[in-house]
Amino acid sequence: MDIKNIVLTGASRGIGESIAKKLAENGFNVFGFARNIDRLHSLVKNGNGRIFAYQVDVTKPDQIQKAYEEIETIYGPIDVLINNAGIYQGIEFYKQDIDRISQIIDTNLKGTLFCTRLVLPYMIKRKKGRIINISSVSGTRGIPLEVAYGASKHGMIGMADALAQEVKPYGIIITTICPGAVHTPLWFEDTPYHGDINEVMKPEEIAECVFFLLNQSDRTIYKRIILFPRNEWH
Ligand code: NDP
Repeated sequence: MDIKNIVLTGASRGIGESIAKKLAENGFNVFGFARNIDRLHSLVKNGNGRIFAYQVDVTKPDQIQKAYEEIETIYGPIDVLINNAGIYQGIEFYKQDIDRISQIIDTNLKGTLFCTRLVLPYMIKRKKGRIINISSVSGTRGIPLEVAYGASKHGMIGMADALAQEVKPYGIIITTICPGAVHTPLWFEDTPYHGDINEVMKPEEIAECVFFLLNQSDRTIYKRIILFPRNEWH
């Protein structure tokens, strides 16, 4: 499949930032969604004219729709959607704020559902498209302190499994990437990594994985990729 235009959520830092740089360096147009427009603008400066900033909160369907319409009108078909935006908190579930539970589900799961639901009509009309979801090892098994987060990430896998079958007749391919720990700012907010953060994966490795997927033929389906640092086991 010829790929030109890629929508990437959570592009402003961490894994998303690395994916944006890797894809832009390799000639793709990257439309980065995030809330922090200043961080997005600094990414655009290093994007050789191939990274475009969209201040979009993935929990807000109207903002997603408006951005999609603008991209399709100005730059042409959206070929790929990468659902990467996410938030994390590691905490015993009985101590977790109810509001925080909602934010995690709203961002990680509903954000993915909204971005996917709203891009599908464009892809179905053309009978082609790719969707790559960044879930987590927490979406493949239960990890203590990750109850709400794990539920959101399991949900991403469940939606992809069901949707992949629905959209098969329309030539749309869905892949879920499930990483273990990656060295990003996520671990420097409210939950420090429990081991040595220097031993975990680098965001560039996830970007490599995405780049690899985009270079594969439509004949072969990569349904799920699980990767984690040597010092973790999942
Ligand atoms: P970061 O916290 O470094 O980055 C998260 C990104 O998501 C930011 O760009 C942030 O931008 C964006 N984001 C958060 N909420 C929203 C929202 N409502 N709307 C739009 N964008 C939003 O995390 P990582 O780069 O580490 O994580 C990226 C993805 O990878 C997440 O889904 C995470 O769950 C997953 N993952 C991470 C692992 C890790 O160890 N780091 C391991 C496994 C999976 P802004 O704040 O500007 O909106």
